[in-house]
Amino acid sequence: MTLRIAVLSLQGDFAEHESALRQCGTEVMEIRQRADLQKSFDALVIPGGESTVIGKLLRELELFSLLQEQIRAGLPVFATCAGLILLANRIENDSATYFRTLDVTVRRNAYGRQLGSFYTEDNFAGLGRVPMSFIRAPSIERVGTGVTVLSEFNGKTTAVLQGNQLALAYHPELLADHRILTWFLERIVSRGITGPLSNTTPGDTLKARHPRNRPQYRKESTEK
Ligand code: GLN
Repeated sequence: MTLRIAVLSLQGDFAEHESALRQCGTEVMEIRQRADLQKSFDALVIPGGESTVIGKLLRELELFSLLQEQIRAGLPVFATCAGLILLANRIENDSATYFRTLDVTVRRNAYGRQLGSFYTEDNFAGLGRVPMSFIRAPSIERVGTGVTVLSEFNGKTTAVLQGNQLALAYHPELLADHRILTWFLERIVSRGITGPLSNTTPGDTLKARHPRNRPQYRKESTEK
């Protein structure tokens, strides 16, 4: 069965995520209002953009609590840049917080004016060198014990994994290399693996599950 991925489409680069997801062979649906959460989907993408704006709209549109519950219940999440900020437990240079499902402290706009936007290539755990596009990106300043660091740049953590949540400070969706997204779709969404990286080696004991068999966060689909 084709995976159906929901993209939070309130503000930011959701269209680029949708295009990347289609190129990876998934179906895509947009979350713009509460009724969209009645539909059946296998994972959530939180795009880059302006975290303050997305956070405000999430509350105004009454999407916030329902999505937070679903993320807590294990809904796979792929978040980039502002998406990472929205998941973080704490924002060092801002008194606001949003979902607080990811045990990290982030710093908004951490690379200063000169390095506000830049491109680099660096190692991503298990995938080798991948291209990374940073746009007024946050850094990850502290990670909790259950959080795995997947990439770093200049000594700052730039990607983390915690259970069902994969969060990146940069934007793979803006580039043609979809290896990180493919890895997320195969590992977390299709196989349901949410343990640490060491549990993902071939022959691991975690059982592959079909993604549509996770009733704890899924509403029954009424679509045919
Ligand atoms: N600087 C933005 C924020 O603080 C994030 C930028 C991005 O998503 N590219 O929300």
